[in-house]
Amino acid sequence: MNPASPAPLPKEAYRLTKIVFTLGPATEEEDMLEKLILAGVDVCRLNMAHADEAWTRKMIRRVREVCLRTNRHIALMMDIKGPEIRTGDLAKSVDLKADQLIDLLPTPGKSKDGVLAVSVNYPLMGGDVAPGTTVLVDSGLIRLEVVATSAERVRCRVVVAGKLSSRRHINLPGVRVRLPALTAKDRADIAVGVEEQVDYFALSFVREADDVDILRRVLTDLKSRARIISKIEDQSGIANLDEIIVASDAVMVARGDLGIEVPMEDLPLIQKRTVDACIRHRKPVIVATHLLESMILSPVPTRAEVSDIAGAVWSTADAIMLSGETTTGKYPLECVQFMKRVAGRIEGNATKGYNEDLPLKTHKDRLLRSAVVLAQELGDKGIVVFTRNGLLPQALAALRAWRCPIYAFTDEPQVFRHMLLMWGVEPFLMEFTPEPEDTICNAFAYLLRRGWVEPGDWMVVVTNVLAGQKSIDTIQMRPVE
Ligand code: PGA
Ligand code: MN
Repeated sequence: MNPASPAPLPKEAYRLTKIVFTLGPATEEEDMLEKLILAGVDVCRLNMAHADEAWTRKMIRRVREVCLRTNRHIALMMDIKGPEIRTGDLAKSVDLKADQLIDLLPTPGKSKDGVLAVSVNYPLMGGDVAPGTTVLVDSGLIRLEVVATSAERVRCRVVVAGKLSSRRHINLPGVRVRLPALTAKDRADIAVGVEEQVDYFALSFVREADDVDILRRVLTDLKSRARIISKIEDQSGIANLDEIIVASDAVMVARGDLGIEVPMEDLPLIQKRTVDACIRHRKPVIVATHLLESMILSPVPTRAEVSDIAGAVWSTADAIMLSGETTTGKYPLECVQFMKRVAGRIEGNATKGYNEDLPLKTHKDRLLRSAVVLAQELGDKGIVVFTRNGLLPQALAALRAWRCPIYAFTDEPQVFRHMLLMWGVEPFLMEFTPEPEDTICNAFAYLLRRGWVEPGDWMVVVTNVLAGQKSIDTIQMRPVE
């Protein structure tokens, strides 16, 4: 058995919905990391909007060390900042009053006509907006409306007042921003992530499939096998959802920015549609942001937050994500424990069945559907599958079969970590032997030893067998002995 196999987890720890947490000051110390990893987080996210190279390298190594020490392995996701518009520096913050005028300048410059002036790091902005366009500042807290544009300034009127300080995030809802998918910092971050062998790159503000292809080419050139998670966070991302999903390896419903870029009441529909579309395309999907926002300060969640997590779990999203809750929050461990409890309660209450709406395009799809039906009829003990690229378990996961654990064995460490994000998949890292039958027996022995299965359990095995020169996809039913 490979030493990098995950530590024995009690069978009760099996969870269908995976948990992503974001690393930050509240969680970066080793003892807290150890607690989170033992509590059952599956993926650690590094938000490059707030990270430099030295910190990033140090943290990646620290997470890996704690994984080795606890013998429980999690995946690493590097979240690339992507195109982002920000206001420039202000000597001191200013209280903007309703109806006051403010000029946004393409480069730092002087004010004119006695109107307050602030630079913005997007010189093309004047050409993208017109009188009437909404400009949202500081995560939507301040609302401006463009009244006039010229080459040297975009003059706005303050609609919703607030305090403006330096380098605040700007959203232009509905505006197709002409910024490259990757900035110079993004490219430098990616090079570091590839060197440190992160498992996933999340790409912010993906607007079309081309954005994903650009990152894909960078990764291919750097000989990385990391997977790409496209963050859907604005109206272009929603409009081009299908082509983006096809181009990506996984998707994130980035509700933070989405809630600024679209009317808030549209969010639940967008979330549901995105989760459904990802399942249809057999790609993992993460529901992110504000799932336990109140727990940044409070040791208990709101009732609405419990319902929000339940909704994501019901919708069979592959994963739910913690951001501020685990970067700067006071109760990071409690957040993970709470997510686990809510997810476990919902999942445990589900009745049998699987996603019968999943379009089956190939005979292999039909074979996998049969495996799921058979496993459920044999007593809900689950499926054992062998993979070198993670695709079979991913396709099995898309069937969303309740009460049908997918035990996925691979001999590729990175594929093992990729599978940590997949709904209902419990991955294991194990050497494969030249004789397939030995590999199956080793997998059964492993599951038995770790208490995942019991003698007499009937399992379904999805594997290839050699018939002469040909490799044939098969399903087998076998009792654990
Ligand atoms: P962010 O992305 O945390 O990097 O902004 C997630 C979101 O917008 O929800
Ligand atoms: Mn975002």
